Amino acid sequence: MNSPKHDKNKRLARPHWAILCDFDGTISRKDVGNRMFARFARSGWKDTVEDWKAGLISSRDCLTAECSLARATADQIAQFVLTQEIDPHFKRFLHFCRRQDIPVIILSDGLDFYIDLILKKYGLETLPRFANHLVIRGSRLLPSFPYFDQGCGSCGNCKGFHVRRYGQDGTTTVYIGDGYSDRCAVTAADLIFAKGDLQRYCHQQGIEHVPYRDFGDVLRRIRLLVEGADAEQRSLADVDLNTGSRIRNRTSRSQRRNR
Ligand SMILES: [Mg+2]
Ligand SMILES: [Zn+2]
Repeated sequence: MNSPKHDKNKRLARPHWAILCDFDGTISRKDVGNRMFARFARSGWKDTVEDWKAGLISSRDCLTAECSLARATADQIAQFVLTQEIDPHFKRFLHFCRRQDIPVIILSDGLDFYIDLILKKYGLETLPRFANHLVIRGSRLLPSFPYFDQGCGSCGNCKGFHVRRYGQDGTTTVYIGDGYSDRCAVTAADLIFAKGDLQRYCHQQGIEHVPYRDFGDVLRRIRLLVEGADAEQRSLADVDLNTGSRIRNRTSRSQRRNR
């Protein structure tokens, strides 16, 4: 039954989904940006991060300040960054999504310099990613923010903007994250996987989400949904992630946005 025609029909029948995913602490096991500044920035960088978490400054201003407090050459940073690892189940998860024609896109309010190094280390450099840009001149770190103007004003690279863009044509958006930089994403996504600070935030705000530990958990849930959707051609957004059954009274995207 696996003729090309059959496969094509199966693809057309499936609802259209996109999986958008944080990088630091979600794909990477640790927060690489934080560790990089802990290693290379003068004291004071942590206060800046606390100001950002408290909503006193934007993440653009936070990153700019952190970069100005850091001194390191590109080689020094690369050497450090390449010691960092990704979630042990992430490649298996990607493999599944590729087989199912579900795009996976990285959304980061961190810096492309270290993200690209780590993706390359794992042979994942073709994964699409949207992040802030870092140039290193001598030992000075010079960030820039190509997506700032499209965002909310509080983020360097507002994930809410990207999630809405992917969801524009009716695509069901799944978001996976772990921290404060994911706050705008969860007001825009249809389905949310959350751990760490993001899980606490969703809980406080009453935002429906699926707690997870790693991409092994995410893969199990996504597989259940995909197989359920194949069987009944139902929308991912109407499916209970815990049981795979249809749910009622789900908080809609627009309701959450208006909160
Ligand atoms: Mg994170
Ligand atoms: Zn934002």
